[in-house]
Parts: sequence; structure tokens; C-alpha cells
Amino acid sequence: MITLSRRRFLKISAATMAAATAYEGGNRVITHAAEKPESGTRTVPTFCNICFWQCAGIATVRDGKLWKIEGNPLDPLSHGRLCTRGTGGVAGHDDPDRLRTPLLRVSERGEEKWKAVTWDEALNFMADKMRKIAAEHGPEAMGAFIHGLGGSFFKHTLRAYGTNNIVAPSGAQCRGPRDTGYTVTYGDDASSPERTDIVNADCIVLIGSHIGENMHNTQVQEFAEAVGRGASVIVVDPRFSVAASKAKYYLPIKPGTDIALLLAWMHVIVEEKLYDKEYIDKYGFGFEQFVAEVAPYTPEWAYPETGIEPGMIRATAREMARYRPATLIHTGRNSSWYGDDAQRSRAMALLAALLGTWGRKGGLWIPTKMEIPAYPHPPYPQPKREAADNPGNKYPFTTESVSTGLRDATISGKPYPIKGWFVYATNLMYSLPSHEETIRAIQNLDLFVVCDVSPSEIAGWADLVLPESIYLERHDDLSTTNFKTPFVALRQPVVAAPDDQKPNWWIAKTLAEKLGLGAYYPWKDIEEYLEYRVRAAGLSYGQLKRDGVILGAPKPVYYEDGAPAVFDTPSKKI
Ligand code: SF4
Repeated sequence: MITLSRRRFLKISAATMAAATAYEGGNRVITHAAEKPESGTRTVPTFCNICFWQCAGIATVRDGKLWKIEGNPLDPLSHGRLCTRGTGGVAGHDDPDRLRTPLLRVSERGEEKWKAVTWDEALNFMADKMRKIAAEHGPEAMGAFIHGLGGSFFKHTLRAYGTNNIVAPSGAQCRGPRDTGYTVTYGDDASSPERTDIVNADCIVLIGSHIGENMHNTQVQEFAEAVGRGASVIVVDPRFSVAASKAKYYLPIKPGTDIALLLAWMHVIVEEKLYDKEYIDKYGFGFEQFVAEVAPYTPEWAYPETGIEPGMIRATAREMARYRPATLIHTGRNSSWYGDDAQRSRAMALLAALLGTWGRKGGLWIPTKMEIPAYPHPPYPQPKREAADNPGNKYPFTTESVSTGLRDATISGKPYPIKGWFVYATNLMYSLPSHEETIRAIQNLDLFVVCDVSPSEIAGWADLVLPESIYLERHDDLSTTNFKTPFVALRQPVVAAPDDQKPNWWIAKTLAEKLGLGAYYPWKDIEEYLEYRVRAAGLSYGQLKRDGVILGAPKPVYYEDGAPAVFDTPSKKI
């Protein structure tokens, strides 16, 4: 039972802010009455941070106030249009509930009593505790839960400090099971953003994927386009979803029985020899065993399991085969449901392979990426102990860190004690199962720091709360995400942070300097870092600042166009 009160936290935050205005030594952004107020409009290209998709946008400031953000037409992700959440992102700047100044706890953990402190005091406190943890327990005893691009500089500081215990709850909560299913099949995961060629698909199969509700901009735009040109849509969902309303075939399946349907679909495709024989001969491994495995799973067997009539299972299997290879079995994303999720994703991956759609136009493209050299820094120290989240490779198939494993180690002290937590941009009260276990783990810590933009429930338990500026007020590292078109995008400040919030890069760099790790930050400020990287890639930083996005030379993303067919599996085949 969480006893936190967000309202109470906010009240404290507001009160400490009032106190914060009185002290000296902080670095607050203050608008002096004598300064001439900004008038007119100006635009600043940047990219969105409301979700991980990282659509590029152009923000407009009117008379000195952040007014709006729209899509950047140069951006291959947004095509000049943001989703409704991205458009609403400007509200974060004036949000009255924001964290405003560093807060240091003054009572028991969870009692939500803090005092406002300067950044100097805050980061000295953190660095002193981290030094003590390293001296008494080794640097690996400092753990971190970090989510998103904004965490990259914190990861850098923590690796320089010597810990390998950096995890992301988003893996187990979201993509982890899916990426395991695809990786054991193809030797590569489903990518992020997903490698789904919706725009070129003639048949789109959504099983556990709610386009229109899990609003990922490019996918929604491409789905609308595909529906508009008459693509056949098959939706499997217990609920009549938005996507289901556009479907040619809607299959209201019993919850938790997707694998039965997937097995029956594969049974029909094999039995009726509707699969892509040439593709399987070329890229497949173990097809005979696979045929034997799916033989018992007839549509009649699947009917009582799934509630989907055998005739409908056969009709939809034939529909998928009719359009192959331009049949997209959407990989889904938020894939942690029932505990059999890696196998469900594996079945989806195998169905795509039967139809010959991995690496094919209208199916699942091969991602490309713009290569941007890193800023040189000294090598990280080699941790002396293996990461505590997955001791002895207890979860051998996971492709990511195990966030509950780090929490377990913090509770049990095994394989070794974890004495510090740094939490960035993830509310562990919701991103880890069991509040009670999270609170038990927190009580074992010598240091607990949360960095966020708003007073999340997990911040209520922290010893130290660090207020970050929102994405419209800061630079971040470059975005060079996997996509069909290689590109680089720049995030840059549109307006100043209203109070004593700081960008993540500044916090991470200042902390590193206080820890004696300044050599890992040889640059003076973030623009020096960004400009170095962009120039090292042979690009113009001035152009990137002006346009927000620079596209790279196109690379093939389909096997038929020359994309490499590489399967990093033991057999080197699917
Ligand atoms: S999908 Fe929407 S919220 Fe996510 S980055 Fe794009 S515009 Fe922002």
C-alpha cells in the first residue's frame, strides 16, 4: 500500500521553492525586470521527448513565451506532423506541479520532508555518498534505473565511476519478451522504432498491437495511408479497438490465447502449402521439425481455446498468404502480458518467416542508422564483479538488463550488496511490480537519488530529488535512431527553464567532476560536444541547428534491394 500523497509532495515542493528564492549560490534562471521583454515570434527546431519515438518538431516562441510545437517536414519519423501528445508537450514548461529546486530529505524515507538546497550542496551530498559506497562496497554497489535518451550522460558518469548495474524497467515492462522472441528466431530484435513497413503492406495483421491507441506517430500515419489505399487489415483483439473498426477481419479472441491462434494459422499455411518455399529454402533452418511441431494444431483444436471459428482461422491464414511477402505481421511493442510473451512473440516471428516477410517490402525492413563518431574519452574502468541483475545468467534469453533482478539484489544483498540507487525518468512505483518490494529495497540503501521533471511517487522516497529541465529547455545527445532512412536530429533549448531546473548533461558532468572523473568530460559545454560529433561525421553543425534534421544517404532496407541477409543465430539461419 503506497501512503504517498502527490498533493502533499506538491505542497512541500511549492513551499521549498519559496524558500529557495532566498538563498545564494544556486544557478536559477532569473528574468530581471530591467531586461527588455522578447517580442515577435521565433522558431527553434528540436525533437519531442513525450515518448521514445523522438519525432522532430519545430517549436514557436511568441513574445517570449513558448507557444506551440509542430512537426518538422524534414523528419522521416514525423513527416511534419506530431501526434496529439507531442503537440501538448509545451504544457510541461508552465506545469505548476514541476520540481523546481534540488530537495534534500530531512526525515525518515517516505515521510516526504525535504529542505531546498543549492545544486552545489545537492551534488556534493551525492558525490560524498557515492565515494563512501565505492570505498566500503565497491563501485558496483551503486545501481541505476535509467530510461530514455536523456539518461545517456548519467550512464556515462556511472560507467566512469565503475558500476555495471544500470538497468531499464522498460525492458521487462515493454519490449523485452518481444525482442527475445524475435532474437531467438532471426538473431536480431524487432527494433525501435519497429521495423514495420506499414506504408507498403497489402495485408496488415495486428495481434496484440493497438495502432491508434499506442500512438506512435509514423505508424499511425502509415496505417491511415494503408487503410486509405485499401490494404487488407486483420485485427485480433478482445476489445473492438480503433484499429478493429478499420479491419476486413476482426477476430475477438479470448484473452491470453494468442499462441493457439498463431499455431493454427501456421498449421493452415503449412498444410495448404501457402508458405514462401523459396525464402524458407534459402534462409530457414529446421523446417521439417517445424512442420511436425505445428501438425496437431488444427483450427478445430484452436477453436475452443480461442473462441475463433475454424472457418475464420482458415480464411485469415489464406488472406495473409495471398498478399505475401507484403503481409506485415506487426511485431507489437508493449508485450509483457501473461508470462508466455516471449513464446507468443516467437510464434509471430515464425509466422512472418513462413510468409517470407522479414527483410521484404511491405513486411519487416532491415534498419539503417546514421553513424556518428563518439566524443573520445578515457576507457571505463572494468567492473570487478558481474552485474547483479542476472547472476549466473539466470535469465539466459533476455536481451536486456533485468530491473527486478537489481531490486532483488538490493533486498537480499546477493550476489553482493547494492547500497545506492540513482533513478532517472522512470517512476519505479509503477514501472516495477510490487510496491512493497520496491520500498523494502529502498530501506536497504545508503543513498537514493531521483532525477525527474515532476514529483513522481518514487521521488517521494528519495534522499535527494534533482529537478531536470524539460526537453524544450535543454540540449540532449544526438538522435540517430534505427529507421528506414538514416538521419540525425538535434534537440536544443527553445526557452529557458523557469526555475532552478538543470539539463541532464550538466548534472551528470558536474557530478562526474565532483567525483574526480572530469577527464570523462573533456568538453566545456554540450554544444562543444555536439559540434565535435556532428563535424566528425562530416556534417555541418550549423545546418543541423538551423534545420533540426539532416538526412543521410539512403541505404537498402529490403533483401530484394541488396540489404544484407544476416541472421545472428547459432545456425546463421532463421
Ligand atoms: S509519437 Fe508523439 S509523443 Fe512520441 S515522439 Fe512522436 S510526437 Fe512525440
